[in-house]
Amino acid sequence: MAQILWGNELANQIKEDLKLEINTLVSANKRIPKLVVILVGEDPASMVYVTNKQKACQSVGILSELVRFSKDTKEEVLLEKIQSLNLDDTVDGILVQMPIPKQIDTDLIINMINIEKDVDGLHPLNIGKLQSKKPCLIPCTPLGIMELIRSINYQITGKTAVVIGRSNLVGLPVVQLLLQENATVTICHSHTRNLEDICKQADILIAAVGKQGLITKNHVKEHALVIDVGTSRGEDGKLHGDVLFDEVEPLVDYITPMPKGVGPMTIAMLVKNTLKAYYQREAKNGV
Ligand code: NAP
Repeated sequence: MAQILWGNELANQIKEDLKLEINTLVSANKRIPKLVVILVGEDPASMVYVTNKQKACQSVGILSELVRFSKDTKEEVLLEKIQSLNLDDTVDGILVQMPIPKQIDTDLIINMINIEKDVDGLHPLNIGKLQSKKPCLIPCTPLGIMELIRSINYQITGKTAVVIGRSNLVGLPVVQLLLQENATVTICHSHTRNLEDICKQADILIAAVGKQGLITKNHVKEHALVIDVGTSRGEDGKLHGDVLFDEVEPLVDYITPMPKGVGPMTIAMLVKNTLKAYYQREAKNGV
């Protein structure tokens, strides 16, 4: 029987620690960190994510502001807003909730965010810095995954890891972080052949696809550590992970549940990234 990695519990602990840090800033009459989230359109899932992010910031005492634009907003309007937030010294983190409507060039928007405020870690310069092992803001979900693995004192060095998914948001940064911890990493994607055989080699299996039931008992090695990142809405209207939890859990040593696994960790890491951006900016400004 596997140990379940409850991300919600670890996320709560992390947020409690961050709250103490913010309280210290308040006591010292310091400026309070601030996150601005931009939401374009009315996608129901995005609205839930944005609300959860704001609630998490508020729960630790970080200031958070939601800027909303209608779905037919022009690209230049969004670019102008980001530029004004870049120049606003009271703002530490800027996050544009994805996806954004098709008339807006996503890359252009990401590239406009000041890399020091890029709490999603999606700016090409932050991606490059991560690859070259330089200090930078790192995407929240990969950070959350690494915290979960660290929480069980799991020895990554020398282990075989398989990451399914190669996005800039999840798959590729996870690969970088695992490599930095000396894992031997294989990346799988939609063109991968023999997914089952490759996954079966993994001591650490990370599924970040968004395909319900992709990972079955036939994909896992006994005693593996399985992290389920994917979320997709099933025919039952509920959210599901990529991993068939009930049949995989008895075979492995560690597994994340879905929900209450990686999701809450992602949000806790957003709060942490906002605080990190704050400290870095304060240090740069000599405060
Ligand atoms: P994405 O950009 O759509 O990437 C999905 C990846 O899965 C792609 O690399 C794709 O390959 C690969 N893929 C698709 N079908 C596959 C298959 N049959 N076999 C193997 N690989 C396949 O999504 P993302 O932003 O990385 O997110 C991945 C999943 O994690 C989504 O379900 C998302 O909702 C979820 N997510 C959860 C959290 C959280 O906090 N819980 C946070 C972020 C994302 P190609 O590159 O070849 O297209």
